[in-house]
Amino acid sequence: MRICVYLGSSPGRSPVYAQAAERVGALLAERGIGLVYGGGTVGLMGIVADAVCAAGGEVIGVIPEALRAREHDHQGITELHVVKTMHERKAMMAKFADGFLCLPGGIGTLEEIFEAWCWSQLGYHEKPCGLLNVNGFYTPMARFIDQVVEEGFLQPRHRAMLLVDDDPGVLLDRMAHYLPPKTEHWLGADDV
Ligand code: AMP
Repeated sequence: MRICVYLGSSPGRSPVYAQAAERVGALLAERGIGLVYGGGTVGLMGIVADAVCAAGGEVIGVIPEALRAREHDHQGITELHVVKTMHERKAMMAKFADGFLCLPGGIGTLEEIFEAWCWSQLGYHEKPCGLLNVNGFYTPMARFIDQVVEEGFLQPRHRAMLLVDDDPGVLLDRMAHYLPPKTEHWLGADDV
């Protein structure tokens, strides 16, 4: 069992974000869940990887060659895969993972969780998507997503596929028990 964690390449202004990343790393290791992430040492990405390593857990990083210098690729993790493109990175991360968990971050983080969630809506995968609402960071976005539903652009059952919680342990439990809504048919990953 492995979870792909999307989170900032910056640490954020408040120490609560680093604390949350550390807590998630410790919880993953404690539960025997491997971490799949972007392979860097910078920001919250580095913090979650270090926390899993410190607790003796498995960490798989996937980083594009061109970003190795900018994101300071992590040399102390279980496996580091160096790929050519962003698309390869995302595909490999998704392939390794049994679910996707998003912590606070910038547009890279947002883009990644929205893609994972969108592909679950389309039936390309059935893996759970979770959003950890650290310190209310994602509350305005969750409100906006409610508006997307209210305005008729997103079905409530598809909104429900993104699990939102402020407690990392509860969120991981909810992801573990996630049952995807029934659709007409599920597309295979090779059809993407
Ligand atoms: P950020 O949330 O902007 O700090 O970025 C977090 C991570 O997402 C970093 O490892 C970025 O390299 C990565 N990232 C940024 N844009 C993309 C993208 N289009 N696809 C995949 N990863 C991305």
